[in-house]
Amino acid sequence: MTPTSEVALAMDWGGTWVRVSVADRQGAIIWQTRERNPRNGTRAELLANAEGLLRQAMDRSKGRSVIGIGVAAAGPVDVETGTLHDPPNLMPLSGVSLKSQWEPTLGKPVFVGNDANLAALGEFRFGAGMEAWREGRAPRTLVYVTVSTGVGAGIVDRDQMFLGAHGLAGEVGHMVIDWNPQAARCACGNTGCLEALTSGTSIARIARSRLAESGSGGSVLYATDPAAITSEVVFAAAAQGDVLAHGILDEVVRALSVGLTNLLHLYNPDLVVLGGGVTQGLTDLGLITEINTQMLRRAMSERHKDFRLVVSQLGDSVGLVGAASLVWKEMGVGLA
Ligand SMILES: [Zn+2]
Repeated sequence: MTPTSEVALAMDWGGTWVRVSVADRQGAIIWQTRERNPRNGTRAELLANAEGLLRQAMDRSKGRSVIGIGVAAAGPVDVETGTLHDPPNLMPLSGVSLKSQWEPTLGKPVFVGNDANLAALGEFRFGAGMEAWREGRAPRTLVYVTVSTGVGAGIVDRDQMFLGAHGLAGEVGHMVIDWNPQAARCACGNTGCLEALTSGTSIARIARSRLAESGSGGSVLYATDPAAITSEVVFAAAAQGDVLAHGILDEVVRALSVGLTNLLHLYNPDLVVLGGGVTQGLTDLGLITEINTQMLRRAMSERHKDFRLVVSQLGDSVGLVGAASLVWKEMGVGLA
């Protein structure tokens, strides 16, 4: 087998979907499929559904050598044993080692990681990091932040993921930004977390409460059923020049800038990559430059200011590319 005919199988396992792909050494996805998790599925049903997709991917890889299987899972992972611990959206899998589950049945090495950590690795090796590398600015330290339904992050330093003792580092969504007692309550139980101020769910919640506070008039959002208000609705209103929607997003930009500046000071990244649906909305409104400006204003030294803020290159595929990156990395395939 020549190295070019080697492939990795990658799985991105979230609360709703399980996606599987076949990927080559250049990070390209050769084939992919996805399936919903069985609704209210038992542990056995969830595992059987996911394993079925891996078997399809094996079939699709005929004629190539599958060197390993990588899994990006939504939730805390013990990377040594490949065990999931209390994944909030995949609770029946808590305590399951995907490594001991699938290595005997599929006959390939299995590597498991948390999806945000692997997204950072995927961007480092094949996304924004590769782009920077092509431009002669190979990144040393990359921080990937997803701003979506929730807010999470992964940190990669010199091709190594920063995991924390229990694989729980990078929970930047629960970094407290607003310490006032009346600050917004977060899903984690705390108040004033970055997630409570900037996630898609929070943007919708803030919009609903502003509309309830201020009575009527002055915003196109008043014509919308409060139950139908989502972050997408707020972004669409802002795109039409709606003042209330703009005011909400200005605060999101400010909170995000504070959170990201904290990350500059903690990790001193040279590449900060933003992903997720809220990032897409902010990008469409041209607000990423404003975040960059506010970060530069707050950063404490010229060295901390020596970073680039970019939007994810891998989009929806970031988890899959990250899972494949883990296989290449663990099998000793270095960066090009
Ligand atoms: Zn929180």
